[in-house]
Amino acid sequence: MKPVINIVWLKRDVRLHDHPPLYAAIQAKKPVLLLYCFETGLIEKSVYSERHWRFVTEGLRDLYIQIRKVQKHNVQVVYGDLISLLKDLCLYFTIDTIFSSQETGIKWTFDRDKTILKYSREQRIKWHQYSTDGIRRAIKNRINWISDWYNYMSQPIQEINIASAQLLELPSMLKKKYDASVFTRKIEDRPVHFQKGGETEGFKYLNTFLSGRFLKYMKQISKPQLSRESCSRLSPYLAWGHLSLRYVYQQSKKVNTENPRGKYIRGFLDRLRWRSHFMQKFEDEIEMEYRPLNKGYINFKLEDNEDFIRRWKKGQTGIPLVDACMRCLITTGYLNFRMRAMLVSFFTHHLLQDWKIAAEHLGALFLDFEPGIHYPQIQMQAGITGINAIRIYNPVKQSQDHDAAGVFIKTWVPELQNTSKEHIHCPWEQAPLLQLWSSNDYPKPIVDVDKAARIAREYLWSLRKDQSIKNEAKRILKIHAIPRVKRYKKVKK
Ligand SMILES: Cc1cc2nc3c(=O)[nH]c(=O)nc-3n(C[C@H](O)[C@H](O)[C@H](O)COP(=O)(O)OP(=O)(O)OC[C@H]3O[C@@H](n4cnc5c(N)ncnc54)[C@H](O)[C@@H]3O)c2cc1C
Repeated sequence: MKPVINIVWLKRDVRLHDHPPLYAAIQAKKPVLLLYCFETGLIEKSVYSERHWRFVTEGLRDLYIQIRKVQKHNVQVVYGDLISLLKDLCLYFTIDTIFSSQETGIKWTFDRDKTILKYSREQRIKWHQYSTDGIRRAIKNRINWISDWYNYMSQPIQEINIASAQLLELPSMLKKKYDASVFTRKIEDRPVHFQKGGETEGFKYLNTFLSGRFLKYMKQISKPQLSRESCSRLSPYLAWGHLSLRYVYQQSKKVNTENPRGKYIRGFLDRLRWRSHFMQKFEDEIEMEYRPLNKGYINFKLEDNEDFIRRWKKGQTGIPLVDACMRCLITTGYLNFRMRAMLVSFFTHHLLQDWKIAAEHLGALFLDFEPGIHYPQIQMQAGITGINAIRIYNPVKQSQDHDAAGVFIKTWVPELQNTSKEHIHCPWEQAPLLQLWSSNDYPKPIVDVDKAARIAREYLWSLRKDQSIKNEAKRILKIHAIPRVKRYKKVKK
């Protein structure tokens, strides 16, 4: 007789606090295989990159250290194809139940989940999936969505006693066959500017934010330099599940109600809800990964300009704020919201390039890549939803408004080190000799910003008149919009 076991399959939830699948598995009182798989098929997707897997590896290391203090066995980390691993495991064990979080992922993970479901049904393995961040599966509209979300966020958090779990090791043959070090040893050391992964590190960011950084949150949220300190910087911990959204919400709510200056955290609490709102949108229409939410836009194709694409990707457009943002992102994996929006707007509007190219490039660069936020935000900023306001960010004005002294620009574009405060936002306006002396190594602007914006505006508004786009806009509002009455009705927060 093979031993009967349960599996906790860790996905984007490598942590020990607020972990419903792990809690349920411990309650089930059977031996548990606590498993994380670096999946070869997912790793191959070009929207994922080394920086993501390094962050996950750091999270797993942190988990390992925590468990080691109280347990003989530990989390089992493997590399390969999950279905073949499950098949191999069935040779050694009778798997009773798989416990996991529900994942709002890309098409690849959605298809993988369908394969796992089919296999587990064939093998009579139960699979219990638990909602992530208040996202619900297969809903038809957003009636009651907000009150359900607040309800989820206010549920008490179950205490995980990992010492009481009967953790298992993988059979040595399988350890060898699915050896994760084959993959993780290729991941280079973390460059100094990147945030470090792990639950313990996530708590540190949360604590410093709640004990004071939040006070300047709204005041500095749009500033490319200052926001790096005053925004929470929790996004990679939330995206990879090293922190639970519910835990962050409850701790922040406490500050909101108990701290005399708690009103300054309101904007942050709203954004935690927006996070789930966007993820729900993606959950309901995952095709957004590769086609516009508004299908009317499918017929309107833009021509690739390889030179534009290459220069934008490298931060060589000749527009200082655009280049500073891209170079900063390449080196640190982080940008605040407004600068992300501006990068997408510049690419899709001023350069008139395809949003999918921006989605892939930026997804691989954002340390906090979260498909559920990323794809809806890219499409919204590209102006192809048909329901949101069309917003064309002027990169020169953004620069003057949010980096007036050019501190951020000079940090990331050293070629402009000697350019005056007056010309740092548009060095092309300097007198020719001054240009030669102060910014000769810096490229000339790729487009005329004002002219390009004018052309884009006319183009985007002409598309809005298309009947298929208008029809689609109605469909989108029906499914994805939160009904007005409900939106403003008092909900228990
Ligand atoms: C084109 C584009 C792509 C984006 N892609 C991602 C992504 O892949 N992953 C990601 O986490 N965020 C994404 N965002 C949203 C936002 O820019 C980041 O969440 C934020 O900058 C992260 O910094 P922070 O943790 O300091 O945020 P804070 O301002 O401290 O906010 C706290 C949390 O709220 C959520 N949040 C904040 N703003 C938004 C928003 N506008 N929409 C949805 N959720 C929000 C995030 O989870 C964030 O960690 C994207 C925005 C744009 C414009």
